[in-house]
Amino acid sequence: MVGLYTALVITGLYILVRLIGGADGGHIWLEALLMFTCSMLSIVAVLRFFLYRRLKELSEERSREIEAEIQRLKEMEAYRREFLGDVSHELKTPIFAIQGFVETLLDGALEDHKVNRKFLQKASKHAERLGNLVSDILVISHIESGQLSMNFEKFAIYDLLADLIDSLSYKFTRKGRDIHYEIIATGLERTQVFADKQRIEQVLRNLIDNAVKYGDAKGTIKLVLKHAPEGKVLVKIEDNGPGIDPQHIPRLFERFYRVDKSRSRNRGGTGLGLAICKHFIEAHKERIWVDSEIGHGSTFQFTLSKAQ
Ligand code: ADP
Repeated sequence: MVGLYTALVITGLYILVRLIGGADGGHIWLEALLMFTCSMLSIVAVLRFFLYRRLKELSEERSREIEAEIQRLKEMEAYRREFLGDVSHELKTPIFAIQGFVETLLDGALEDHKVNRKFLQKASKHAERLGNLVSDILVISHIESGQLSMNFEKFAIYDLLADLIDSLSYKFTRKGRDIHYEIIATGLERTQVFADKQRIEQVLRNLIDNAVKYGDAKGTIKLVLKHAPEGKVLVKIEDNGPGIDPQHIPRLFERFYRVDKSRSRNRGGTGLGLAICKHFIEAHKERIWVDSEIGHGSTFQFTLSKAQ
């Protein structure tokens, strides 16, 4: 339609110019027809060229989008398969252990007063581990399927640390651990951060729990707050435990990665604590990392943004 109108305008102008120029009236309509056809053909050719180019661009764009979508689906499928494999493997251990103890009890150990209580306690410990594992798996699958919703608020990070120490020291003393805690606030006692308080509490719980779990029975745990550049606060959890071999550091925050599998399992570890911490901190667009030296303990640290 555009081509038709443009060709008509060009032909009209041509006739006008020819008539003003005093052209011979006999040939003018033939020339006009020729002019009209030529303009029409060239305009159609130009339009087709641009249309073709645009269509090609669009189809290239679309095929890139489709390729990216296929790649994303493939990655999700691989992730799903790997996750399912890891989860089944992790669940098998406590389930088989519970099965083993229950069968032994039913086969006669129930009447043996020397072992019956011990076997029941062991089965109960594995059942507790199974429970922890299932709740951590639910948290991580919730996060990794992109369903993590955050609830930001202003709160004093020092107060959160102090409350946590109160409740955790009671719990660990009851479990027979003699842990000494210290909070070093370096002038940040009243500083407020802007973060999801519940998630940060969970991160701190996991990190302090690890510091106790993998540290000495009579360990010292220092919780340090420091000013960091760009309006941030640095939160450090330092222990004087055995430390972590540098070869394990790059993979430490991966799900189900453990330095010492049996030690982690014996202490009720699910292998998901640090992966959950990393997800929570990254959902704040902040960073978490660890510095450690064998024989000198480990320092886990992460940043938070100060409230305006
Ligand atoms: P787990 O449930 O096994 O504790 P995490 O994800 O919390 O899983 O930790 C992963 C591994 O990192 C642990 O199995 C342990 O080997 C190591 N680890 C974590 N924190 C410490 C620490 N403070 N000191 C030494 N090793 C640690």
